[in-house]
Amino acid sequence: MNVRSSTVAPTVTDYLSWSRISAYLRCPHQYAMRYIGRVPAEHRPVALLFGTAWHDTVGVYLEGSGNATTPELVDVFAESFDHEIAEGDVPVHFDEDQTRDTILETARGMVEAFRKSVKPSFELIDRERSFSIELAHPVTGEILPVPVVGSIDAVISRNGEKLLWELKSSKRRWTADQLDNDGQVTLYQIAARSLGHVDAKLELVATTKTKKPDVQIERLVRHRRDEQELTELAFGVLTAIEAGVDYRVRGWQCRSCQWAGSCSP
Ligand code: SF4
Repeated sequence: MNVRSSTVAPTVTDYLSWSRISAYLRCPHQYAMRYIGRVPAEHRPVALLFGTAWHDTVGVYLEGSGNATTPELVDVFAESFDHEIAEGDVPVHFDEDQTRDTILETARGMVEAFRKSVKPSFELIDRERSFSIELAHPVTGEILPVPVVGSIDAVISRNGEKLLWELKSSKRRWTADQLDNDGQVTLYQIAARSLGHVDAKLELVATTKTKKPDVQIERLVRHRRDEQELTELAFGVLTAIEAGVDYRVRGWQCRSCQWAGSCSP
């Protein structure tokens, strides 16, 4: 859709983020329930808590210049995970055959793999840096009327190079399509410039939650065209949200949907 002549006057959206944009793309009805109707979630998927605990764990590794031991890092993970479980009154949805013990075992394997792959030969420059940026439409020059916010995982220096690290825990290795097209990475490239990290190169560091964890380290490249498409996407999604475009997308996402009980008409 060409949004050149659209006038976006947001009444229900105070900001966008990659997580909001991707939530809308996944299922506009879920987005509407979550962010507009403020319908309470029915459960919390364990993957969410896992992701938070993994971020905290890797954060301690980076802050300590890579000197933390595996048991120390597993303790960080366990403490963060338990804290997340205790927080909030919405029940946590574990996957089949999953328990706290199996989760900690997975985390231990991931920590070992991470420590082997990410040697302490880096210097941490910045971590968990929040941003709030303006996006200008590449054709009309119109400024998106809400800020786009987020947080950059880490900026490090290694062998004289500045790297912007996107740190993930994932079910499986990223596919070539994800590596080429993931919009979050593109957004972070734009945001990094606004934070003064003009020369930072993008690198994905994804640790898999598989039986034998693997650390996928990939250099990512985003061009001007990718940034323009990302900006057009933000304009399109905001326009659709504000116009009340709300429909269900049935698929794999329904299996773990936190609003499934309120979905059907
Ligand atoms: S159950 Fe499926 S269709 Fe319904 S809101 Fe959730 S993701 Fe969307």
